[in-house]
Parts: sequence; C-alpha cells; structure tokens
Amino acid sequence: MKLPELPPFDHEPKKYSGPSADEVLHLRKQFLNPGIFLYYKKPMMFVEGKMQYLWDEQGRRYLDALGGIVTVNVGHCHPDVVDVVRKQNETLQHSTTIYLHPNVAQYAQKLAAKMPGDLKVCYFVNSGSEANDLALLMARAYTGNYDVIALRNAYHGGSTLTMGTTGNRGWKFNVPHSFGVHHAITPDPYRGLWGRDDVDAGKKYAADVKNLIDFATSGQVAAFIAESIQGVGGCVVFPDGYLKHAYEHVRAAGGLCIADEVQAGFGRTGAHYWGFETQDVIPDIVTMAKGIGNGCPLGAVVTTPKIAAALAQRTHFNTFGGNPVVCAQGSAVLDVIDREKLQANSLKIGNRILGGLGKLKSKHNIIGDVRGKGLLLGIELVKDRQSKEPAREECGQVMETCKDMGLLLGKGGLWGQTIRFSPPMCVNEQDADFLLEVLDRALGSL
Ligand code: PMP
Repeated sequence: MKLPELPPFDHEPKKYSGPSADEVLHLRKQFLNPGIFLYYKKPMMFVEGKMQYLWDEQGRRYLDALGGIVTVNVGHCHPDVVDVVRKQNETLQHSTTIYLHPNVAQYAQKLAAKMPGDLKVCYFVNSGSEANDLALLMARAYTGNYDVIALRNAYHGGSTLTMGTTGNRGWKFNVPHSFGVHHAITPDPYRGLWGRDDVDAGKKYAADVKNLIDFATSGQVAAFIAESIQGVGGCVVFPDGYLKHAYEHVRAAGGLCIADEVQAGFGRTGAHYWGFETQDVIPDIVTMAKGIGNGCPLGAVVTTPKIAAALAQRTHFNTFGGNPVVCAQGSAVLDVIDREKLQANSLKIGNRILGGLGKLKSKHNIIGDVRGKGLLLGIELVKDRQSKEPAREECGQVMETCKDMGLLLGKGGLWGQTIRFSPPMCVNEQDADFLLEVLDRALGSL
C-alpha cells in the first residue's frame, strides 16, 4: 500500500557530514546526564530544520507535529528570526541590566502591549522553571503569605521550587521540595468526577481549591498556579469557569493568581492570544517560556507595577536574563506571529485537525478522548473506553509507526497515554491532512 506523502516543500537540506547517529548516541551515553530520555526505539537525530519540517542526518524529511517540544511556534529557522539574531550576534552578544540596552527595553514594551489589564512589568529569565520560581517568590514577597495551591497533573519545572508545584510522580525526586505547596484535584473532564455534560463542572472542581485553603492552610495563601491548558499532563482542558471560580477563592484568601503560559501562550490556542483568555480571567502574574523565543533560552514573568514593587525590597538580578540576542529573537517572534497571522492559522488548522481526530475516534476504539484548542491538541488512548485503562504501550507503538511514516508527535499524561499535537503555527491544510492520514494508518495497524 502506498504510504501517505508529505506535502511538497521547497527546501534542499545541506549534505550532512558530521558524526553518525550511532556515534552521537555513544557519546551521549558516555558523557551526558543519564536521566534524559529518548523518544524512539531507534533514536532519531535531526540536523536541519525549516519551518514545520525537520531533516534527519540521511536527508529524510519529517513533519514536526510536536514543534520542537512546543517551542518552535513560528517555524524552524524562520528566515526573519534568523536574520535579526544573526545581526545582533554580529553587533553585541552580551550585555546585562547593569547597562542600558535598547533591545530589552523595547522588547519589554512590545510584550507588555500584548498583555491585558495592568500586566505591564516584565522580568526576563532563561527558562520556564526560572520564570515560575520567580513568580512564586514574587507572590510570597508581595502577600507575606507562604502557602501555594497548585494542581495535580501539572508541570511547572524541574527546579526545587517548581518540582514542588509539579503534580506528577515521574518528575518529582524523593527529596524535600513541596514547601507549603498543596495540590488540588485535576479539573479533568475526561478522568475526573465531573464531565463535559455537567455545566457546573468548573465550579465543582474549583470548590476543591477552597477546600484546600480551608483545611490545609492557615486560610491565607500566597498563590495559586496553573497552566491554562495542562501540557505535559496530556493536554487537559479545564471546564469553562474553572479558573474564574478558583481565582475567586484564592483572591478571597489573599493570594495571587499565576498563569503558566509556557505552552498555551502566543496564539497557539487559536481563538485567543493567551491561554488564560480561554477561561475569561486576568491573572496577577503570567509566566512564559518555550514558544516565546521560538526555541531560544528565554523566559519571562509579567506582572503589575504594584506586585513588581514587592521584589524591589532586595536586588534581583539574572545574568543572562534579557540579553540582547534573545530579546531580538523574542521580539522578532512577536512580529512574525502578527505579520503571518499565525494565531488565526492555529485556529483554522487546529480545527481541521480536531475535526479529523473526532472522526478517527469514531473509527478507532482505542481513542478514549479528543481534546484541545487551536494547535494544542491531544488524544488519550485507552485499552477500554469503560475502564479507561491507559493504553501506554499502544501509544508508544503509534508514535513509532507515525515516525516511520514521517510524522513526529508528542506524548503526555502520567502513563504516557496521550498523544500530543503542537506543530509550529505555520502548518497548512496539507500538513493537517497528512497528519490525520498517517495517524489513521498507525492506529489501524495496532
Ligand atoms: N511550565 C510548563 C507548562 C512547561 O511545559 C514547562 C516545560 N515542559 C515548564 C514550565 C518548564 O520549562 P523549562 O523546561 O524551560 O524550565
């Protein structure tokens, strides 16, 4: 049977002459952190990227439907981004906040212009973990309170503090880390107590936040932190009204509300620029990373002038945060998203994929749930729709088969049972159809 074909694309990859994948694997085993993991049985090596595609060392092309790791929002090596960064690299690579530099100031202004309400003060860091660390510190410094409410099934980072807020045993070491952190139940309409047929589900899940405040804290909290759509947890979309009610409970207890937009921000959800807008709330602090810089080490925390003032009690310094090169890159990314109308494209192509996934669900019983917004989508695989037993091995198998056909996907959920789709926001209809065709074949071959 003829394999699905990748849409035509005009780019000739350079001939690769570096070490083989086997040699790199050998080096990696010898000299790199043994805690890292590889996605495929035969590890893949990619040596070139252009827009939504990657090339392996043999020159074979793949559709990157994971988008780096939800990082490459505007496309691999987008020419406008590359150009701006190259110019800045040739001019001044490093400078910090002890001197003035136009890039960081102008980029902060541009990023603040994208934010609603009073969210106008930016801090720049190098990663999502750092951004969330800083947000939690800020909330504690501002409120004078200690306790933090996070969610089960969340991922907020690998630093000690953010590991504490992460709600998944796979990422938590058995060391002291959860100081003052309490995890509310996951507002998951598929696996949780209340489903999509319950219009009050959001309110009911949020009641657990109030319950935690009443029974696990002094009654006063520093913060509530949540992703707007849980990413690593397997693309869990909260029921309408969840964040609104949760925020009310938290604010009544003196706490600030932190939205982790590391995966959901920058137009990816399609209908909105920020993921929290899909829940109709305005947070007190917003954290960003990954797609903010299209894959460069850039993270940000944006808050109000009043909250920011609390962090002026001491010197707050970050050596690389906001350096001229990443600010140039972040700024170019914001421009490309607007110029190429990538948010609207996320909505259009995201809906096409979502519709196709819905059809695959009626064909393949292994798909227990289809969900997501824009180009942040997932399907949860189960051995049985009644028991919802996670189909972990099958999920891995589907990913292998898709990879063999030229499609790279992501994985999420506690058991690795959810396939995730978060391609660069420049994907087109043919890419969407290719993805669905390949996935259909892979599911059919189980
Ligand atoms: N928040 C979310 C929602 C994330 O998905 C991640 C990374 N997977 C982080 C924070 C941490 O980001 P980093 O790996 O850049 O520290």
